[in-house]
Amino acid sequence: MKAFRYHRPADVAEAVAVLAAEPQAAYLGGGTNLVDLMKLGVQRPDVLVDVTRLPLDTVEELPDGGLRIGATVRNSDLAAHPAVRRDYPVLARALLAAASGQLRNMATTGGNLLQRTRCVYYQDTSKACNKREPGSGCAALHGQNRDLAVLDWSEQCVATHPSDLAVALAALDTVVEVHDADGPRDIPIAEFYRSPGTHPERETTLARGALITAVRLPPLPAARRSTYLKVRDRASFAFAAGSVAAMLDLDGDVVRDVRLAYGAVAHRPWRAYRAEEELRGRPFSPELAARAADAELAEARPLRHNGFKLPLTRAITVRALTELASS
Ligand code: SF4
Repeated sequence: MKAFRYHRPADVAEAVAVLAAEPQAAYLGGGTNLVDLMKLGVQRPDVLVDVTRLPLDTVEELPDGGLRIGATVRNSDLAAHPAVRRDYPVLARALLAAASGQLRNMATTGGNLLQRTRCVYYQDTSKACNKREPGSGCAALHGQNRDLAVLDWSEQCVATHPSDLAVALAALDTVVEVHDADGPRDIPIAEFYRSPGTHPERETTLARGALITAVRLPPLPAARRSTYLKVRDRASFAFAAGSVAAMLDLDGDVVRDVRLAYGAVAHRPWRAYRAEEELRGRPFSPELAARAADAELAEARPLRHNGFKLPLTRAITVRALTELASS
């Protein structure tokens, strides 16, 4: 592993200033992804700026009924927080499905959002990968692409985003609070992640050196009826073959409101707006849920090895919504 310097900033402003001054610096949260990538030689920072001692580790219930979650709140603490379990069960379930207890004890909220793809070619420095080395090609496009995208991919990159938490946050219309050289600002999560396009090395709209300081959940009473369903290749912890974050609000049997987001289908957590449109205002049935999923997936372009993701995503949509409808 390449040698690096370690820096522990006194406050957010100092952290941002160090990143601004050091082109090869990186923030260190729990290190559960970054340190692995450093060992593999995929990430080679000169300086690690450890943000875990900054005062960003609280969960705050807001006067409007929403929730503000500091960027360094550990995944295990967030999953166990009473307000999360009561008001946003989709979030708690996504976190509990995401990783083993040891990893959840280390991983932070901000770091979770910035996880890198688990595309095997990205992690193998002997293979062509535009995300790791722009312009080198994409070994996955015609290679082993079973775990990769079916929606919104480009010839330059067919990777998926690995975070379960980000899928739940996408369904909840979360706002990401960041601090960059110009000071603090908010980014709605719908504008936070990028499609791969011709620059798959850029995964978010964060300015260079910007630090995530918190995420803010809006008040959403209907989210008390929400869930996260994840399918993976083995019973033990693994990244999703498919996942859905779902919230359902019924008036009698008519869908008053619904939120759906998919994981493991695209370069970013995929908010299923078309499916939501199909469902809203109609009497709920499993058949309607299947039609809604099909509407969302109509423009999917499966790769050679991952056509199974379409019926899988449809099936978990039906299952999650049907369970919510009868809960
Ligand atoms: Fe790299 Fe993306 Fe291609 Fe994977 S899919 S090899 S991450 S460019």
